[in-house]
Amino acid sequence: MTEFHYAVDADGVATITWDVPGKSMNVMSEAGLLQLGAHVDAALADPAVKGVILTSGKADFAGGMDLNVIATAGQRNAADPAKGIFDAITAMHALCRKIELAGMDRKTQKGGKPIVAALPGTALGIGLEIPLSCHRIIAADNPKAQIGLPEIKVGIFPGCGGTTRLAWKLGAMAAAPLLLEGKTNDPKKAKAAGVIDEVVPADQLLARAKEWVLGAKDADLVKPWDTKGYKIPGGTPYHPAGFPTFVGASVMVHSNTWGVYPAAKALLSAVYEGMQVPFDTAIRIETRWFTHVLMNPSATAMIRSLFVNKGALEKGANRPNVPDERVQKVGVLGAGMMGAGIAYVSANAGIEVVLLDSTLEAAEKGKAYSTGILDGAIKKGRGTEEKKAQVLGRIKTTTDYADLEGCDLIVEAVFEDPAVKADVTKKAEAVIPATAIYASNTSTLPITSLSRASVRPEQFIGIHFFSPVDKMMLVEIIKGAQTGERAVAKALDFVRQIRKTPIVVNDARFFYANRCIIPYINEGMRLVAEGVAPAMVDHAAQLLGFPVGPLQLVDETSLDLGAKIAKATKAAMGNDYPDDAVDDVVFWMVGQGRLGRKSKAGFFDYDEAGKRQGYWHGLADKFPRVDGADLDTVKNRLMMAQVLEAVRALEDGVLTDIREGDVGAILGWGFAPWSGGPFGWLDIIGAKQAVAICDTLEAAHGARFKAPALLRDMAAKGQTFYGPKAVKVA
Ligand code: NAD
Repeated sequence: MTEFHYAVDADGVATITWDVPGKSMNVMSEAGLLQLGAHVDAALADPAVKGVILTSGKADFAGGMDLNVIATAGQRNAADPAKGIFDAITAMHALCRKIELAGMDRKTQKGGKPIVAALPGTALGIGLEIPLSCHRIIAADNPKAQIGLPEIKVGIFPGCGGTTRLAWKLGAMAAAPLLLEGKTNDPKKAKAAGVIDEVVPADQLLARAKEWVLGAKDADLVKPWDTKGYKIPGGTPYHPAGFPTFVGASVMVHSNTWGVYPAAKALLSAVYEGMQVPFDTAIRIETRWFTHVLMNPSATAMIRSLFVNKGALEKGANRPNVPDERVQKVGVLGAGMMGAGIAYVSANAGIEVVLLDSTLEAAEKGKAYSTGILDGAIKKGRGTEEKKAQVLGRIKTTTDYADLEGCDLIVEAVFEDPAVKADVTKKAEAVIPATAIYASNTSTLPITSLSRASVRPEQFIGIHFFSPVDKMMLVEIIKGAQTGERAVAKALDFVRQIRKTPIVVNDARFFYANRCIIPYINEGMRLVAEGVAPAMVDHAAQLLGFPVGPLQLVDETSLDLGAKIAKATKAAMGNDYPDDAVDDVVFWMVGQGRLGRKSKAGFFDYDEAGKRQGYWHGLADKFPRVDGADLDTVKNRLMMAQVLEAVRALEDGVLTDIREGDVGAILGWGFAPWSGGPFGWLDIIGAKQAVAICDTLEAAHGARFKAPALLRDMAAKGQTFYGPKAVKVA
């Protein structure tokens, strides 16, 4: 497959055009690297060629490296995976260095051929690292384009020279947000940041690139780091100006990652060590740290869940094979917090929305939520009045069920009350087409029981959004006992239209995400009841890689919601109810009026503006502190509380695909992304170790930590969830 084309024009300018067949965006493959290398060799060897333009045949330059290649890099040399990775990366570096030196005499720095990168649009990852080794980067003035090195977001770092080149070009301070946060910019901002050299009107891109090639002098081809006495902006680690940058960056990395993301620390080490040696050695150091990161199972786990599997689910990996079910007109019942958000994301995706509530005032208030978001976007320069008018124009507010006529999907988000839900189901179904699909956004009520109010239970489904709807990327689709394939396809097509990530689960109490979140939060409160300091509880979770601890999470979602769920669960479970110790905390807190952030009092104290002011000391009066709680035990309890629930959900058939369990956990409740999700985490520690932890916890804290049979069996057989030794779960 030809991924790069090569042509030389009458003026001796060679153009290497990246254009991977059958893809809308170029991604770098192993074959592509070889082809690019061969074309660069040909251009440098051909005396008729004066210089080279590297560009793309597509609207964008490139989306980056094919992450599948990176995820499987260790498999290229089974006997010595680290060497296999190191050698492959070294070959990529050699190509970039060849482009950079362009055939020049290294002593005189003369005789090289100018190589310019001409970027028509987005250039990410290796799609920017290769241009950074060219002698000039010219981008088309395409405000939609994104230029940057976002690798850190999937658990790796720019390992094809981008880390070293950007840090040496801009200095550690200026490069930090681009490398450590993976911040991307449009072309004008990328130029202002010093990442690229020039922005030109799109129709002049190639002409300007050619003009530059033909006018380039020897000195234009010499990179600053190849000139004698080059001083890296802002100073190196042992320079008085550079020193504080590295101290600050170390603190920033540690406070953001709590030490659990290997990539950020490795990146910083590569820059810190690299700046103290000559450039070619720095590149070798970058290679070693990159190999180190790829050898860490966290990198593979993150790429697998956050990129490969997330992408597969978004593309409909579990979509039934039925025709296109894209939504034209959605009826949203209930314009409260959830309904308002669902109306916004739908209208924003171009879908007509009928937003119904029991009063017009409530419906209008729900629509005003969209106005607020759109105004906010305009203020930040990310939206226009025209776009705002278009989106708002798609939302019709009403109290009249007759307006639901013609809706091909209903999403119900009224009060969490089966009688109210049954009533609106009947009223809506009397009006909507017989083919329409009806979905409930319930968070706790079983879909099968709600579907009894429907005359078409096979067209009844759960579409469970998370709050706030416009920010949370996960949507949990729940199949009731009678839900048919077309309803699943409709829900999946809808989620795809609004650009979120779906998982499809079977009906059970709390479905999947809440089923796991609740034991996590409850374990946190149990620890408090036992006298463990709240700060230790939350920090243990952060040390595990959770963005917020369980107590902070309860404060955000509110304690009265917890009390409501506890009451309903107790009513449903009777004597089997296992959480009385948790209820001691929840109901006492509610009794104190400490409902969480919304009442400006919860496990934390808050100021008038709702800002956290530290943990509330009054808790210790009721639940006296015990000294000497063991951090590892606290961590294990918080982790196992949710991981075991995920395994049980798989055993029970609520989850049918571990990919959904992992992606859903990361996007749904921020489950330690570094681990790739609960099943990824179990693979990292191994089933044997997991069972040993369970046995210890069960002996000390009870049956909720009993190792599920599946896990015990996997431990005995040496199986994993992913990979060659993967267990088969029917
Ligand atoms: P909410 O109280 O903010 O909004 C409910 C809205 O429904 C109100 O505007 C109310 O006027 C309207 N309503 C009630 N009865 C109605 C009727 N008969 N006809 C028309 N409108 C009616 O509640 P919410 O937080 O938006 O939750 C709505 C649903 O979403 C619930 O089922 C809830 O369990 C679920 N949910 C909530 C969250 C969350 O975090 N709040 C998350 C996921 C799912």
